[in-house]
Amino acid sequence: MNLTNTLEEYFGYRSFRPGQEAIIQTILQGQDLLGILPTGGGKSICYQVPALLFSGLTLVISPLVSLMKDQVDSLTRAGIPAGYLNASLSSESYFATLQQVQSRELKILYIAPERLENDAFLRDMQDIRIDFIAVDEAHCVSQWGHDFRPSYRAIHDFVSQLDDRPVMAAFTATATEEVRQDIIHQLQLIDPAIFVNSFDRPNIKFTVREPANKLAELKRLINHDEATIIYANSRKRVESLYEDLKKSGYQCQYYHAGRSHQERQDAQDDFQFDRVNIMIATNAFGMGIDKTDVRKVIHYNMPKDLESYYQEAGRAGRDGLDSEAILLFGAQDIIQARYLIEDSLDPHVEDRLQVMIHYVYLTSCLRRYLLAYFGEHLNADCMNCSHCLKEYRMVDVTKQAQIILSCIIRMKHAFGMGMICDVVKGRPNSRVQDWDFEQLSTFGLLKDQPDKRIKDILSQLTAQGYLKVNSHRALLVTEKAKSILTGQEKLSIKVKKQVSQKVPHKNIDLSIRPEEESLYEALRQRRSELAKAERVPAYIIFNNRSLLDMARDQPVTYDQFLTIEGVGQVKANKYWQEFTQVIQDYQTRENSSQ
Ligand code: ADP
Ligand code: MG
Repeated sequence: MNLTNTLEEYFGYRSFRPGQEAIIQTILQGQDLLGILPTGGGKSICYQVPALLFSGLTLVISPLVSLMKDQVDSLTRAGIPAGYLNASLSSESYFATLQQVQSRELKILYIAPERLENDAFLRDMQDIRIDFIAVDEAHCVSQWGHDFRPSYRAIHDFVSQLDDRPVMAAFTATATEEVRQDIIHQLQLIDPAIFVNSFDRPNIKFTVREPANKLAELKRLINHDEATIIYANSRKRVESLYEDLKKSGYQCQYYHAGRSHQERQDAQDDFQFDRVNIMIATNAFGMGIDKTDVRKVIHYNMPKDLESYYQEAGRAGRDGLDSEAILLFGAQDIIQARYLIEDSLDPHVEDRLQVMIHYVYLTSCLRRYLLAYFGEHLNADCMNCSHCLKEYRMVDVTKQAQIILSCIIRMKHAFGMGMICDVVKGRPNSRVQDWDFEQLSTFGLLKDQPDKRIKDILSQLTAQGYLKVNSHRALLVTEKAKSILTGQEKLSIKVKKQVSQKVPHKNIDLSIRPEEESLYEALRQRRSELAKAERVPAYIIFNNRSLLDMARDQPVTYDQFLTIEGVGQVKANKYWQEFTQVIQDYQTRENSSQ
């Protein structure tokens, strides 16, 4: 069977992405499978194509309700009968969908895992021929993963009660070896084929930056037309950033678990439907959104682990166009992260944090480090991260570190960063005087050093375990610090190179000639009108990549239109006139102006 034809006919894609075809073939041959593909790697196609070709029903288990509606809308638009059942449906629509399943009208049914714990649902499904079960975001089944979802554990029970066991395939973007084994075990996959695709996202430029003023830096990074997600580590921070940016005139929305269900839904829709281009959120935001044209993902704080970071950062550039993932990090982030994990019972939390801290202090290729963490080894530096583009250099600060450590020892009690900084800088303010710290031999020894440098050294000492944070966020010297004090170990920090201010350039790789940009804009305009009329997000009609292709190739006939990436038969029938009209109008304008 020619799978490429099926892909082209229904989805309008000319070729499979790496791994997709082999995965689909394996599933169609009836073998279980575990597929690990990066975010944006195209996992959905891997189960949607088999679903089309199996004669019975395909169940897709997915954790997020909001995602289902989009996927089902997209499929229906492509001419693939699909539906979903979840708690958001009225009982009327619920039974209507169930009816469609029973009369075999639907090929694909999306459900949330909670549904499987429902006995009535099990009874309903027992009479239906299910050929295939796809488990999306399969890492949710594992406690070792970062999004454990207890009802994923019900999947195996459910499957074991079906008369005929369907083929099963599990998909995820992030899984360490431990999590992979756990997925196979928890879902009881039978002799699964395992596909691991490269995690590399070459179109995302990774940057780590330690700005003196995060908010000012953030404002330099954002603009009024690129879709951007800003992650911060607390609800309070999210709200204050929202207020700040709104005051500065940005169209933005915010999202965190403390908002009501309706508020979250509205915030998400505003972003999805391009009513605002900036979303400020805690890590609660993301899994349910499938917006493909996010150009920047900015982390305002350092996340707790690299897996979450990579997953969140990966929400940039799913359309394959140039995008950026920027981590803004400050000395306080480490102290705060340490403080937050203080009481955690998870034995791995400290190790995970260490890996993350290492990342922010790295001076070599960021992508190599990220990929190595997921077990992939790049042969060369990526030349598309802030470090390959050399923004930093290392400076030896052992001497200053020794002064700071001995000063803390002389201060006898535990103090926070600010106080320690005042003493080594020699600022005789009232608190310093209260404690008689002007008398210490270390008072003012670092008066020539900027505060930021001292705080960087303190946070680096904390990161490497020479200092620890107590429950009052004060710093204590550890046993390990001896090796620095005696000069056995050295300490270095990363400082920004002085470089001439680069001219900001447009990030989106339009890869079309400048004169075609106005056509591209006109096509976007038409898409946005259609999206509004149909009440769907713009990318569900066509994504940016398809519009770029249209601007470049300028199809005017139906057959030409069908050759555009992302244009399948159903969408071509529906939209070819709308879009080729825009192209013809453009050509007429061009010709008359020549
Ligand atoms: P994932 O679930 O792995 O994060 P998706 O399935 O959401 O990724 O796919 C990401 C984007 O890539 C979607 O816009 C999808 O339509 C597109 N895509 C998937 N497969 C192909 C392909 N073979 N050719 C072109 N685009 C594709
Ligand atoms: Mg997905």
